[in-house]
Amino acid sequence: MSDAFTREEVAVLTPYVTSVDQPIYALKNLPEEVVAVLFAYYSRSRESLRRNLLKLIRDQDIDLETRFKASALDEAELADAREKARQFHEKWVVGYGHASVAEHAVVHLAVEDVSIIATKIIEDTRLASYTEKSTRYVLFDSEKFFRVPRLMQSPYAALYEDTVRSLLNTYVTLVPRAVACVKARVPRRPTQSERAYETACRAKAYDLLRYLLPASTLTNLGLTINARALEHLLTKLLSHPLEEARAIGTAMKLEAEKVVPTLLKYADYNPYLAETTQAMQALGHELFAEETPLETPSVSLVRFPVDAEEQLAAAILYGHTTVSWLQVVERVNKLAPVQRQHIIDEYLRRRGPHDQPLRALEHLYYTFDIVLDYGAFRDIQRHRMATQTRQELSTRYGYSVPEDILAYGMGDVFHACMGRAAEAYNRIAETFPLEASYVLPLAYRIRVLFTWNLRELFHFIQLRSAKQGHVSYRRIAQEVYHEIERVHPTLARYIGVDLEDYQLGRL
Ligand SMILES: Cc1cc2nc3c(=O)[nH]c(=O)nc-3n(C[C@H](O)[C@H](O)[C@H](O)COP(=O)(O)OP(=O)(O)OC[C@H]3O[C@@H](n4cnc5c(N)ncnc54)[C@H](O)[C@@H]3O)c2cc1C
Repeated sequence: MSDAFTREEVAVLTPYVTSVDQPIYALKNLPEEVVAVLFAYYSRSRESLRRNLLKLIRDQDIDLETRFKASALDEAELADAREKARQFHEKWVVGYGHASVAEHAVVHLAVEDVSIIATKIIEDTRLASYTEKSTRYVLFDSEKFFRVPRLMQSPYAALYEDTVRSLLNTYVTLVPRAVACVKARVPRRPTQSERAYETACRAKAYDLLRYLLPASTLTNLGLTINARALEHLLTKLLSHPLEEARAIGTAMKLEAEKVVPTLLKYADYNPYLAETTQAMQALGHELFAEETPLETPSVSLVRFPVDAEEQLAAAILYGHTTVSWLQVVERVNKLAPVQRQHIIDEYLRRRGPHDQPLRALEHLYYTFDIVLDYGAFRDIQRHRMATQTRQELSTRYGYSVPEDILAYGMGDVFHACMGRAAEAYNRIAETFPLEASYVLPLAYRIRVLFTWNLRELFHFIQLRSAKQGHVSYRRIAQEVYHEIERVHPTLARYIGVDLEDYQLGRL
């Protein structure tokens, strides 16, 4: 039963909870760390959250009014209020004994004017939500690129700046021509407004020209993240070998601490992370520096469950039995293939286009070794229900040449840009192998190991093969599908893949 509150108590609570008499309610107007504290009480207190909130306010453990008026306080009062808040959170959140409480405090961070390279480092943290400037709908600025401090202080400064600037200038300069080519190829439909047609043509042109954007291009990113994941992200950034990542980590921490002053306490340079990375780099170099990569298809399925149908049928049934896993497997293995197929069919056949496949598919794992252009990687990396390990962006795997670039007669200028970038990369990489990646455009290819469970593969293939997707990752999604179809055709047929080629299609 819900608490009964006096009229005075109701007046105190009302600004902070959406209901004072229902057992389910939302919290509002509370600092993020206070929310974390209130939820932490659930594990230690017999009282309801509202009762504990009243107690906190009454005992002046948290002075909400002072905190809200913080901007009106003088420096001494502010310092006093901050110290009180710090002590309080030290006691109740940090002292709680488990970092999970920090997950109830959420921070929204705007991260602007960071390189595409940096966004990939940030987005490597999966327990967060991101939205990033689109390469399809926004024209990037030719002067907005990251000046890598180590390069700018080196003899490569001019080479770096000139190369990046020339890539961005070519990108901007080619826009009108690319738009005209798109228009010449795909006329406006009678039902399409002039404005919609113009937008669609521009989007198509930006999609095409993005291959020229250097990885140092500055972009914007919004992220929503809980304090526990943020602490982890900050630690990774502060321990990263790239200066830009460390600078972003420092700035993020400074700003985020204004929202969650106590919970990021342990976010710092972590020698374990930094030194392990260095040690693994040394080992990788020692063992493989002399080897050249074998020619492989762009998408190779390198590991998959050999008995996928048996495993899946058993995983589907397990929750609906009262016996052990081994018993379920044994029974399922004795079934005829058609019976196993029936189980899988019953599990998957009711799924509509907007329904997620159900959880049993998560018990099956597939690992792919994929060589893809950095632009496609930029997009595919955003799928968080996966384990991804990438190599550094380099010239080793060459670059993708979009068919439309050739069709529109831009092949020469495109190849010249790629050649110039490679030349700059190779020179800079002799001294600064990590920083050299900033000079390479999104067309350059990178090798990434992806481990996906089958449920995420259903989602990834359906979303990324869809018509509205960019041609670069559509192809990857289609090839991933074909690999699954090759080894597990009876499972692949439930995947909603779009295998059409829309290169010449409608806008
Ligand atoms: C055509 C197209 C255009 C796009 N344009 C942009 C763009 O302009 N800018 C941009 O930033 N991104 C863009 N994206 C990327 C998109 O926003 C997603 O970030 C990306 O596709 C990852 O897929 P997902 O969100 O479905 O989640 P995944 O990470 O693949 O996770 C799988 C599923 O798990 C669930 N899930 C995972 N994490 C969470 C979470 N934290 N909270 C709630 N549910 C979760 C969701 O149900 C999700 O669908 C675009 C994608 C497409 C296909």
